[in-house]
Amino acid sequence: MIRIPFNRPFATGKEIDYIRDAIATPKLSGDGAHTTQCHTLLEQSLGIQKALLTTSCTHALEMAALLLNMAPGDEVILPAFTFPSTANAFVLRGARPIFVDVRADTLNIDESQIEQRITDRTKAIFVVHYAGVGCEMDTILAIARRHVLAVVEDNAHGLYGRYRGRYLGTFGQLAALSFHETKNFSSGEGGALLINDAQFNQRAEVLREKGTDRSRFFRGEVDKYNWIDVGSSYLPSELLAAFLRAQLEHRGQIQSMRRETWENYARELASWAETNGARLPIIPPECEQSYHMFYLIMPSFESRQALISHLAALGILAVFHYLPLHLSPMGLRFGGCEGDCPVTENLADRLLRLPFFTGMSSSEQAQVIDAVRAFRC
Ligand SMILES: *Cc1c(COP(=O)(O)O)cnc(C)c1O
Repeated sequence: MIRIPFNRPFATGKEIDYIRDAIATPKLSGDGAHTTQCHTLLEQSLGIQKALLTTSCTHALEMAALLLNMAPGDEVILPAFTFPSTANAFVLRGARPIFVDVRADTLNIDESQIEQRITDRTKAIFVVHYAGVGCEMDTILAIARRHVLAVVEDNAHGLYGRYRGRYLGTFGQLAALSFHETKNFSSGEGGALLINDAQFNQRAEVLREKGTDRSRFFRGEVDKYNWIDVGSSYLPSELLAAFLRAQLEHRGQIQSMRRETWENYARELASWAETNGARLPIIPPECEQSYHMFYLIMPSFESRQALISHLAALGILAVFHYLPLHLSPMGLRFGGCEGDCPVTENLADRLLRLPFFTGMSSSEQAQVIDAVRAFRC
């Protein structure tokens, strides 16, 4: 029996009021008052010029690939340690993923290996801020400038994390957020595209609205709306935006709860980790993390599996994370080979994520800590 889940959705209490308001208005399709409010909350809190809610982070990444005119023959550089959506976004357009290994400390793309993978077909660099700890953006942006490449941030984990004081999601021309149930802020399923280069504003609205200029029509800027480009249906309903609005408005509360839980794990497990050859997450001094997850790097694959079983026997659900993408069935079709990304291959086998969610009680967390401390590698 699971006593402590890996994740449990959190609600602030205000969600139901906003959903009731959407029903009473009545406006349930996309881009009503709650969606607009979410856009404003994201734009003002991050200091960016435009945010658009989407149905998922996956869809926001797909929009980024469309906005960058990805086409067959193009190559895109990305870390081998990420979720398939980071790659699928441009693979759907016929572009080819070029997997780069990750850094052993943060599990972010190893910026020192990017330049050697750039060819005259390279179109963009897609980075992932793993666990909401920023990639080495100064170096990555300099490489992108030198080779005139776009940078897209898959910031599914990192909303309100910072790198050198600047919010993650504000570095690339485009960035994607996730509001999936397992992320810091949620609407069950959901996402957002952050647009840091205003040249994409108008086309992004069109792609999101089935290739039409309906957004401009609703603002009264055109007197009829028409099919003007490719596109799809990427806007969430007002019911989801209403839920998300409550979450975004409680940003301070949610982040401080997560911070306390994260810091408690780090403090209480430090000496156990040291004695057992495990390591806790490393947060470089230039990064302020988003408190998205708490992971352990175990000494070996066997000890990782043994700790998962030990915790499961006590009713605690701990899980591993991404399998190296270059060695997945799809990655192999793109020519991935064992040994291409040795750090990814090694760490993916040893990483374990502990239960971590907004609203985890201190007694739940104490049970997890006691259970981990009772385990010997
Ligand atoms: C969760 C996640 C996604 C997908 O998010 P959805 O909103 O479920 O589409 C993409 N990339 C990363 C790194 C993720 O963690």
